[in-house]
Amino acid sequence: MTDQIQAHSRQAGLTIWLTGLSGAGKSTLAALLTDRLRERGLAVEWLDGDELRRTLGRGLGFSREDRFENIRRAVYLAAMLNRHGVITIVSVISPYAAMRSYARQELPGFVEVFVDCPLPVCEARDVKGLYAKARSGEIPAFTGISDPYEAPSDPELTLHTAERTPEECVEELISWLTEYRRYPL
Ligand code: ADP
Repeated sequence: MTDQIQAHSRQAGLTIWLTGLSGAGKSTLAALLTDRLRERGLAVEWLDGDELRRTLGRGLGFSREDRFENIRRAVYLAAMLNRHGVITIVSVISPYAAMRSYARQELPGFVEVFVDCPLPVCEARDVKGLYAKARSGEIPAFTGISDPYEAPSDPELTLHTAERTPEECVEELISWLTEYRRYPL
């Protein structure tokens, strides 16, 4: 076996699924984690919610059905990447427990990470100004304000982003992957 093939087979089938409210820190942590894993020479792809909606999910809205469809497409792509030995980081709100169960069922190496941050903190951060628009009614069906967020009841890991720095959260995630999952990173 060549080194390259070994590298691929040892990292096959891992999807790190970051779920949480808008502004909780999913993209920040995904970007940092992508860098950290690439520094180790691993093949990594990051599927971000906003980008998915601009591309694969283009035209989909925010009804429960459309949100599910968006997730189904992300899962399809993650499964394909995993089959080729690519570690896939998915950062999407994924507000319904049922859609995360679907992802878990479809992806053999599914790791659910709850990016936990209290709503008032997310709202105070208001990274993209969306909470203000949701409060004024300009954006309807906004998760946490006018649409549900079902917090994970049994995630593999919970990261408290209001209490730790992004670096600390990513360290915790990498430690968890290596210690508990015994994943050779
Ligand atoms: P999301 O992708 O969940 O919508 P973002 O990553 O876009 O959220 O925004 C999160 C904001 O919170 C960023 O401005 C980031 O700098 C800040 N932040 C503060 N602490 C943390 C932390 N521990 N982890 C992630 N983000 C954090």
